Amino acid sequence: LISIRGLTKAYGTFTVLHGIDLDVAEGEVVCVIGPSGSGKSTLIRCINHLEAFSADSTITVDGIRVAPGPALAKVRAEVGMVFQSFNLFPHMTVLKNVMIAPMRVRKTPEAEAQRKARELLARVGISEQAEKFPGHLSGGQQQRVAIARALAMEPRVLLFDEPTSALDPEMVGEVLDVMRKLAGTGVTMVIVTHEMGFARQVADRVIFMDGGKLVESGTPTEIFDNPQEARTRGFLRAVL
Ligand code: ATP
Ligand code: MG
Repeated sequence: LISIRGLTKAYGTFTVLHGIDLDVAEGEVVCVIGPSGSGKSTLIRCINHLEAFSADSTITVDGIRVAPGPALAKVRAEVGMVFQSFNLFPHMTVLKNVMIAPMRVRKTPEAEAQRKARELLARVGISEQAEKFPGHLSGGQQQRVAIARALAMEPRVLLFDEPTSALDPEMVGEVLDVMRKLAGTGVTMVIVTHEMGFARQVADRVIFMDGGKLVESGTPTEIFDNPQEARTRGFLRAVL
């Protein structure tokens, strides 16, 4: 579903991604781990071209080449993104936040968008909050709205960039539970996370990045119990 070949990205003379190759299959859940500054966010932001990347790199999503131009809107409609800071529209109710993209981008009729939004809010466990404004919700609730909003576009793949790292500890669990449920329903997900227990439990594949390189990739058991690379072992020793 996602194919990344030789992904290179530089800020000026500073190269942050050095020729990453990665394929993500339909229904696969890939967790990306690695130290701060290793390029995890940059990698997933390249997938929907929130970051430009070097012209000799290729990324395709569902066969569409990710590049500036008319096809980019199509890619972005297929790729949902959930950020560390929830990025909800503060002046819209929770319900409106979830309805707005399908109405504007997919031209979904309002009644249909609303029905769908209520269904999604139920799915992430916050039906009672539908009429509130984001500022009146807890961090965990806001992040669940952000997940519902991303799902409203019926994306082929969901990208998460440390969705729980801005949350108070007691709210991390409720968001991870929603993501775990989603993973169980066959949604394709690429998740940058520091939650090693979650990655071990939910990932089909774990990718370890360091210094802008994809150092090691394997099943959770391979990466967590039997890492092959010294850098992976060093990182896991420090975080586990
Ligand atoms: P973290 O775990 O802290 O979120 P990360 O693995 O997501 O780290 P990135 O945010 O992808 O790392 O950053 C990779 C490298 O790119 C870092 O060295 C960072 O300083 C650099 N970088 C990121 N954004 C910019 C920018 N706009 N301009 C210059 N350098 C940048
Ligand atoms: Mg990051």
